[in-house]
Amino acid sequence: MKSQDVRSKFLSFFKEKKHSIVPSAPMVLKDDPTLMFVNSGMAPFKEYFLGNGQPKNSRISDSQKCLRVSGKHNDLEEVGYDTYHHTLFEMLGNWSFGDYFKKEAIAWAWELLTEVYGIDKEILYVTVFEGSDDADSLPMDTEAYDFWKQYIAEDRILKGNKKDNFWEMGEQGPCGPCSEIHVDIRSAEEKAKVSGKDLVNQDHPQVVEIWNLVFMQYNRKANGSLENLPDKHIDTGMGFERLCMVLQGVQSNYDTDVFTPLIREIETIAKKKYGEQEEADVAIRVIADHVRAVAFSIADGQLPSNTGAGYVIRRILRRAVRYGFTFLDKKEAFIYRLVDILSKKMGKAFPELKAQKQLIENVIKEEEQSFLRTLDQGLVLLNRIVEETKNDIVSGEKAFELYDTYGFPIDLTALILSEKGLKLDEKGFDDELQKQKNRSRAASEMSTDDWTILFDDKEEEFVGYDTLEAHVKLTRYRKIVSKKEGEMYQLVFNITPFYPEGGGQVGDKGYLEDTHGDVIYILDTKKENNVIIHFTKNLPKHIEETFKAVVDSKQRYRTECNHTATHLLHQALREVLGIHVEQKGSAVHSKYLRFDFSHFSKLTVEELRDVENFVNARIEGKLPLIEKRNIPKEEAIAEGAMSLFGEKYGDTVRAIRFGQSIELCGGTHVKNTADIWHFKIVSEGAVAAGIRRIEAITNDAVKDFYFENNRTYFEMKDLLNNTKEPVKALQNLQEENANLKKQIETLLKDKAKNIKSELKSELQDINGIQFLAKKLDLDAAGIKDVAFELGSQFDNLFLIFGAEQNGKALLSCYISKALVASKELNAGQVVRELGKYIQGGGGGQPFFATAGGKNPAGIDEALVKAKDYLV
Ligand code: ATP
Ligand code: MG
Repeated sequence: MKSQDVRSKFLSFFKEKKHSIVPSAPMVLKDDPTLMFVNSGMAPFKEYFLGNGQPKNSRISDSQKCLRVSGKHNDLEEVGYDTYHHTLFEMLGNWSFGDYFKKEAIAWAWELLTEVYGIDKEILYVTVFEGSDDADSLPMDTEAYDFWKQYIAEDRILKGNKKDNFWEMGEQGPCGPCSEIHVDIRSAEEKAKVSGKDLVNQDHPQVVEIWNLVFMQYNRKANGSLENLPDKHIDTGMGFERLCMVLQGVQSNYDTDVFTPLIREIETIAKKKYGEQEEADVAIRVIADHVRAVAFSIADGQLPSNTGAGYVIRRILRRAVRYGFTFLDKKEAFIYRLVDILSKKMGKAFPELKAQKQLIENVIKEEEQSFLRTLDQGLVLLNRIVEETKNDIVSGEKAFELYDTYGFPIDLTALILSEKGLKLDEKGFDDELQKQKNRSRAASEMSTDDWTILFDDKEEEFVGYDTLEAHVKLTRYRKIVSKKEGEMYQLVFNITPFYPEGGGQVGDKGYLEDTHGDVIYILDTKKENNVIIHFTKNLPKHIEETFKAVVDSKQRYRTECNHTATHLLHQALREVLGIHVEQKGSAVHSKYLRFDFSHFSKLTVEELRDVENFVNARIEGKLPLIEKRNIPKEEAIAEGAMSLFGEKYGDTVRAIRFGQSIELCGGTHVKNTADIWHFKIVSEGAVAAGIRRIEAITNDAVKDFYFENNRTYFEMKDLLNNTKEPVKALQNLQEENANLKKQIETLLKDKAKNIKSELKSELQDINGIQFLAKKLDLDAAGIKDVAFELGSQFDNLFLIFGAEQNGKALLSCYISKALVASKELNAGQVVRELGKYIQGGGGGQPFFATAGGKNPAGIDEALVKAKDYLV
């Protein structure tokens, strides 16, 4: 069965069982502080499990893109070495939100696997939770056991411990026992030797888990205790690639049609055959896997970068480059060349790949090239370290520096060292790594209390589109403590005018006032798992009262100007540059806006002016806001609204229109474009290959901008004697300046030449020694230069020069080396002794020495006394 059919059969099976089929959510999460990427099928539905919202249908099914490379689920280091863990994989799932429970979940899983897919019952095992005698003291899941035994022989039902058979969402939240389904795809001969039963959950590559059915029936509280959930839920996840392996009768996920096209392409590029040599095979699997993870992330709007989710993506790509570099001998960029075949094979199920193929290729290629340069530099540094190594062990600190500062991978360091017969102090390296981890953990440590519920009001209503003030009641609150911010409170109200950070727009600030006149400031507003959370430093005194909640209207208004301008800018860019322009991120603050978009080259001055003019024309056009709330997504799209890749939209959306600009947007906007007053671009530059960034300002910020520019201009003009043509005047000044510099250089050269020939003619012969004592108008370097120049022409010189500089005295003494030897003269001694006349001291070498002092008036006397050395 082709992989495409495997996927569609799953979805149509659950559609028949009355499930709504939904597309995969984007992989990068936006309003969940505990998770960077979707790592299981349930993550996009977390808000429903937490009771923060209600799905339209209580039964849902989908195939969800998952990434397991950080946090609780991190399979990165396995990938390539085994045949069934990936970074990115698809999880097929069916959900019940307070609807059906264990009975149906088990019956349907069995029906689908054995009847629809026709998997032989004799290769299946299932597990159930055995119970626990720890603090939770949970009973065995006999319910599940009893349902299973209707379908499968009891000796194939295995009891599992808490680690394998009890699923928890995190430290807190919904949890419950689970039943896993495992397959044994070994040969009959192997099976005769060892029973599959003994290999379940033992990391055997042919006895693997394919499906996990989670029965959510408890809630874990912050103090660690469990309570029963009022609504019980089903959450299942089946690994799509593993299922394909079973149905295609192969022994490895990499031998399914999900991966073989990629592997064939890598074979061609690398001129290596898959299956001939283990190290090369690992590298090929790593690359085939990682290119998917990176391509899907970029398609979902997450570019590689230096922080957060972007850094995780960068590390995955670098891991692939490194394996190619080391085991396939690929020293130039090549991974980007796999994007073509990937988008051909998967573009149907995931159109975002096809639509953004060019961008994905550009970004990967640039990232590869830049890392290959890093590797080159790292190799040079590593060679230096090797040369400097005295014994045959390279210190962990040095290796760590290479790793941390230059991004040079540690396993590559170890490999290269071993090739050179050296050892790496691995323990030292691990210690350094641990120290760094401790530092960053300490900085981000945070504790969160349980919510205190005042009254249960499930539907928190946002009224901030229509009003900036409302009378609100506190429904729940909790304390959070972080190293960075200290103690803070999170408040949730029944209704709120505060806009929570989202869609690029910052969260509202403002205050709460109770009837006694007590005021609490709201410092920020954010959305977490669909709940609007207000951050305060203190808890209000009278928590059960009704508060007046007031949004900072000035900040909101400026932010709205920038948000509406962002939409107009998006429209302008597509108009001026072309419809290949797509939004790739935005930040809408009260002071400025930032907009990232796909485009391949720097904008010219003319293009920037056209864009600015386009936006300003719409501002002058006084276009009114036309807002449509809760309309079906299809209707908005039909009207011309663009949906963005990487955004999660509900069934109904909000459409924002100003003239011809229509966007799906949850943010807040001005009532009329005229409110923006004016739009000004302040910078344009590159963020990554094929992604540009514009920063711009509106309204008051533009006034400030012009005011400041104007002030600078008049200050400058003033300095230029109020000339009518300041630019010309500046050019003249610059030219003049350059000419003067040139003249000074020539003059100085002439002067030095003159001084030298003058001095030569002034030399006195005293007892066969060429002597001169003189005050010069030169600095220390100039004097040294003159002395050495004369010194190269005579071998019997005794020179003593004085100079006054910045109120200080300087004495320099030069004695030809021949004289130093024959006459026992010493310049160091001379300046030390003469130094007393200038109230200072100094020293140097026997043939040249200098002294500095604070009494320039004594220079002349010192020069007179110098002659005494020769008589
Ligand atoms: P394993 O023990 O094999 O790592 P798991 O217990 O981590 O699996 P779950 O978290 O229960 O897996 O995820 C549900 C299903 O998703 C698994 O049964 C498996 O088929 C699939 N799966 C999990 N992790 C991966 C992965 N890294 N790559 C591919 N499929 C995976
Ligand atoms: Mg796992």
